[in-house]
Amino acid sequence: ERDPVPHFIRNIIEADLKGGKHKSVVTRFPPEPNGYLHVGHAKSICLNFGLALDYQGKCNLRFDDTNPEKESEEYALSIQDDVRWLGFQWDGEVRWASDYFEQLYAFGVELIKQGKAYVCDLTPDEMREYRGTLTQPGKDSPFRNRSVEENTELFQKMRAGEYPDGSKVLRAKIDMASPNINMRDPAIYRIRRAHHIRTGDKWCIYPMYDYTHCISDALENITHSLCTLEFEDHRPLYDWVLDQISVPCHPQQIEFSRLELQYAITSKRKLNQLVTQGLVSGWDDPRMPTIVGMRRRGYTPEGIREFTRRIGISKSDNVVDMSVLEGCIREDVEAKAPRVMAVVKPLKVTITNFVEGESQSREGEFHPQRPELGKRVVPFAKEIWIESDDFMELPPDGFHRLKPGGEVRLRYSYVMCCDEVIKDAAGNVTELRCSIDPETLGKNPQGRKVKGVIHWVSVEDALPVEIRLYDRLFTVPKPDSDKEQDFLAFLNPDSLTVVQGWVEPSARDAQPEMLYQFERLGYFCADRRDHKPGEHLVFNRTVTLKDSWAK
Ligand code: ATP
Ligand code: MG
Ligand code: MG
Repeated sequence: ERDPVPHFIRNIIEADLKGGKHKSVVTRFPPEPNGYLHVGHAKSICLNFGLALDYQGKCNLRFDDTNPEKESEEYALSIQDDVRWLGFQWDGEVRWASDYFEQLYAFGVELIKQGKAYVCDLTPDEMREYRGTLTQPGKDSPFRNRSVEENTELFQKMRAGEYPDGSKVLRAKIDMASPNINMRDPAIYRIRRAHHIRTGDKWCIYPMYDYTHCISDALENITHSLCTLEFEDHRPLYDWVLDQISVPCHPQQIEFSRLELQYAITSKRKLNQLVTQGLVSGWDDPRMPTIVGMRRRGYTPEGIREFTRRIGISKSDNVVDMSVLEGCIREDVEAKAPRVMAVVKPLKVTITNFVEGESQSREGEFHPQRPELGKRVVPFAKEIWIESDDFMELPPDGFHRLKPGGEVRLRYSYVMCCDEVIKDAAGNVTELRCSIDPETLGKNPQGRKVKGVIHWVSVEDALPVEIRLYDRLFTVPKPDSDKEQDFLAFLNPDSLTVVQGWVEPSARDAQPEMLYQFERLGYFCADRRDHKPGEHLVFNRTVTLKDSWAK
């Protein structure tokens, strides 16, 4: 892997290590198990786990499971898979914010004892009204001055299930006039009778994110708590909570900008909408910017990691071009993927002078730079498929592929001349009758230049293959920033094209997730779910050979 790119968080960590503030680095990746991870999360994963690796520290995987209605075991398992697939391993066991529910409750009691938290009975609407606005200070709740004894008892009864959902909250007692709205006595506990994936029905009160997160960080001795910029305004609360209670340490929260990707959505809620409305085939649809989607499409962990390295870490907003991500993937798979020939839009060619036993099958290297991958036999036969687009009856100048009376080289094989064009009643070309020059195996023809080289497969040897061609999922670069229209209005109706093609026999036993370069067509990955080696071949186009985003 390449050298780490310097950035401001790295600088802070290096200064902290050098100056002796910390002996080692402890970071964490804290997803909520309420959906599948997307490419934005990959940035956060690579940052947190990457820093731990670079400085021989540790990184925890902690589920922020404080919203029981939205969370599931399926999501939690998929997130663990994603992190491992990206090439990282968390320190020790997976952690859960719910592991700390008992301690979080005790800290709530501690805050009450210090007069720094109170139970409030305002309705949500009243709460909103009392909170004030950016330009107007808030008002104190009439419950703000309840005694320590009363608050202690009420909080205990909240836990015991004596009040209906939503009827009371525990609030931090900070400052209703603070210019920062997050500091205007934020709720830290709410009553919610919901079954929790870990704690079942043990609790009917749940701690709020801001309160839970900082304490969980501190209990895990996190040194640097890295989060996205929208939490910048929450940092005073993060620090306030930790300053009031006795925790082992006080981690430093540092914010960086979210990754946004052109032509993609990076919001779990919206991705969920695509899935539940059946607009894609699932979270792992290869058009989805989810980690499982990218994986199924054929993106590699190395390519994704390189992408996050290349886009860097900063505090400025960045909407990254899709071509940057695809470029990283292309570069990685180019170096790895064996080459085979496949035809996507087949046109039949009959070789009129094919001589059984004389016209030769050939060998091709699987990879020009990787001789260790060996060679495969490319069977040649009287009938072959070529790509329809490689033939033009009336080609423009500079067309070097096949035309009537013209010659082209068949990759790895002979130079072939198109002698006759066969058409159906409607005038569509249905077949070409061609002849090969037997003197052109491995050498140029005498006295004439043949510029074009095309791919092909033998009709009798080729295997049928379902090929899924993907295009951008949205028609505009920023589908979710339009004020007038919902992002769904920008779905590209042609983002998936399924074709039935042919692939050379060496791909017969390709295992699911195996990547190939289909020569001249692009990189393709055997589908994780639907591809059955030797039986039913299904390939997804991972990325084209050249950047196609500049159109
Ligand atoms: P979403 O809005 O998609 O639900 P989230 O931030 O609520 O995302 P979490 O599960 O809380 O999702 O995210 C876990 C971690 O990943 C957080 O630290 C969060 O800041 C980070 N993260 C989420 N989205 C991005 C993004 N687009 N770029 C960088 N980091 C991100
Ligand atoms: Mg979140
Ligand atoms: Mg969220």
